[in-house]
Amino acid sequence: MIPESVVQKLRTAVRGQTFRPGDPGYDDARTIPNAMIDRRPAMIIRCAGAADVIACVGAAREHNLLVSVRGGGHSIAGKAVCGDGLMIDMSGMKGIRVDPLRRTVRAQTGLKLGEFDRETQAFGLATTQGVVPTVGIAGLTLGAGWGQLHAKYGLAVDNVIGADVVTADGHFLTANASENADLFWGIRGGGGNFGIVTSLEYRLHEVGPVFGGAVFYPAAQARDVLHFWREFAVDSPDELVMQGGSFCLPDGVPVFGVAACYCGAIADAENILKPLRKFGSPLADALSPMSYLQIQSMFEPFFPPGRHVYTKSNFLQDLSDKAIETMVQYVAKSPSPYTFAPFIEHWNGAAKRVAPTDTAFPHRQHSWNFLAWSMWSDPSETEKNLKWTRECWEAMRPYLVAGSYGNYVTDEGEAIAREAYGCNYDRLVALKNKYDPTNFFRMNHNIKPSQATPAKTSS
Ligand SMILES: Cc1cc2nc3c(=O)[nH]c(=O)nc-3n(C[C@H](O)[C@H](O)[C@H](O)COP(=O)(O)OP(=O)(O)OC[C@H]3O[C@@H](n4cnc5c(N)ncnc54)[C@H](O)[C@@H]3O)c2cc1C
Repeated sequence: MIPESVVQKLRTAVRGQTFRPGDPGYDDARTIPNAMIDRRPAMIIRCAGAADVIACVGAAREHNLLVSVRGGGHSIAGKAVCGDGLMIDMSGMKGIRVDPLRRTVRAQTGLKLGEFDRETQAFGLATTQGVVPTVGIAGLTLGAGWGQLHAKYGLAVDNVIGADVVTADGHFLTANASENADLFWGIRGGGGNFGIVTSLEYRLHEVGPVFGGAVFYPAAQARDVLHFWREFAVDSPDELVMQGGSFCLPDGVPVFGVAACYCGAIADAENILKPLRKFGSPLADALSPMSYLQIQSMFEPFFPPGRHVYTKSNFLQDLSDKAIETMVQYVAKSPSPYTFAPFIEHWNGAAKRVAPTDTAFPHRQHSWNFLAWSMWSDPSETEKNLKWTRECWEAMRPYLVAGSYGNYVTDEGEAIAREAYGCNYDRLVALKNKYDPTNFFRMNHNIKPSQATPAKTSS
């Protein structure tokens, strides 16, 4: 709990909105898209600027408060919201300035990626973000950031050229290649472990229109499609990004879909994607030229807020015959029509040409990322959906590597964090010892400092 005197001090110290249990807006402010998460922070501060963030960190440190940081609120494990502590909500900080000449953008970390894309596209520019516009740029970028442009321009982290960070001791630091370069390395994949990032600077690229959409096959054709897709992806150029798997169309029809985005000349796209469009007997071919903003909003209807979400994910060793055979057993078998599982993303091109130690995000060598992304609306169906998701993932385990993309996992904990940070783990611990030795920032995919004072457990 937060002493009343501290609450009053914070209320007057900050410029942004504050919420306490019972205040109008409190329940909206603590609610995040995943309905599995129902936590009640003692206080929420929707920061208006870096000064508010510094004030929050100072008060929390002084009074030993548990802190959580909210960007877009899409952490599947719900790390944006703490029980009882102080929730530092960045969602009010949406400043953004594109520099069209330098092709860079400075963006505050309350922006959702749809808002970010809209501003950069006004100048015909973009950089890699994810594929659902309601997701926050902060959590997505600090964790890595896979999206439609990753094969051509790298992951979101690969395009970050600077950041402003409020560290656990309340200092405001600039991190880039020449200032606080160790911190700059750590935030590019180390999530929110080292401080609260108040703004990010990215490199931009000329983007759009693109050629994209999806080809939908009957679920029963999944085996053949997977075998075809594996071969087709071998020569996939950097311009092309693909993902696909088992899910239901809005009318409830189970399909195996392959989504594609080609960021390059439309005529080339038509040629390169011809084999995919000609393969088998698709139910529908929804590939066409479209604006970058259109393709970036394509998945939004499938991920409305308020659903229960539980995920398991690891990179595949390979898309082997046995892995395909196991996946096929789970196609169209989820207890929920909203689930995307089994599902795979193709990781390719520029993102894979970065060395595993160049940024804190290490997983640069794998071509396929496996996901079991379960969603359902009725809370009484939670147990059966959790069970099914775990079974699907367990069946796939022999074909998965230990490492996972941390942004996609619900179950966390030290062992999973170690795997997610892979070969960079020890270096990240050393960085944590330097910038956050008491594990002040622990509501995240946590890197434990080697000599942390006992921390309150997150709730
Ligand atoms: C529907 C959906 C679609 C997705 N699609 C993609 C995709 O296409 N590509 C992809 O790579 N990932 C994707 N993800 C995963 C996504 O990257 C993570 O869930 C990410 O954590 C979301 O970031 P957020 O800011 O919305 O979440 P939050 O829950 O607000 O934050 C996530 C984590 O980051 C920390 N954090 C947030 N803001 C800051 C800050 N300013 N400073 C320091 N730490 C901070 C939080 O404390 C928390 O630990 C998707 C997730 C969902 C739910």
